[in-house]
Amino acid sequence: MFSIPAEQVLRRYIKEYLISHANLDHVSSLIINSPDDTVKNIYALANCIETIKTHYFTWQSWANFANEGGKPALSKYHYQVLNPDRITPIQNILMTAQAFPLSHANLSSTAFLIRSNDAFLLYLGDTGPDEVEKSNNLHNLWQTIAPLIKSKKLKGIMIETSFLDEQPDKTLFGHLTPQWLMKEMDELASLTVKGALIGFKLIITHVKPPQENIEKIKVQLKAENSLKLILIFPGKGVPV
Ligand SMILES: [Zn+2]
Repeated sequence: MFSIPAEQVLRRYIKEYLISHANLDHVSSLIINSPDDTVKNIYALANCIETIKTHYFTWQSWANFANEGGKPALSKYHYQVLNPDRITPIQNILMTAQAFPLSHANLSSTAFLIRSNDAFLLYLGDTGPDEVEKSNNLHNLWQTIAPLIKSKKLKGIMIETSFLDEQPDKTLFGHLTPQWLMKEMDELASLTVKGALIGFKLIITHVKPPQENIEKIKVQLKAENSLKLILIFPGKGVPV
């Protein structure tokens, strides 16, 4: 089995950070591992950078490893504010990122469309379905990426499925269930040509524990996959 020590992944293979939103389940590892990290940029929308700057890298909750905020600024990380809808080159790697706002209950989250040459990958941070969130954010995103699916330039979508179908809409807190995810995929499919999503790769992220629920979510997703997407469930790395 191919495995790399964790600190090598952190120091050599992770070149830059794109942060979808500043909830602790998404940024705690970045903060806690910062003393061992190398110089990097942190790309995010303005409100997300503001939270990291005023709540985490402050000298109150952690040393300020960033280049702005509480003094002294240690400047290991450089904040790079993304403008929604503008394509931004990611420094140090030959890729670009385009940020799209997502609705995540009372917070806004972000999707990133990453481009490398002629290939694209879409990553979505936490998001609720448009119908529950009373939003058009996902619809607008699907409209933007539909041509990339038709042309087969989009290689996959990384998207969350936090809860089981049994979770009531009023306690989704800006998240998806298998049913809501597939409903959103139907919406995306309706904007492409028939059968365009057959064999398209969907990487399921942010499946909430306990393990029993994770297994049930997989079963529900597979049962509801009438679009014949390829569902990929990433696992945790094994420490060496
Ligand atoms: Zn989360």
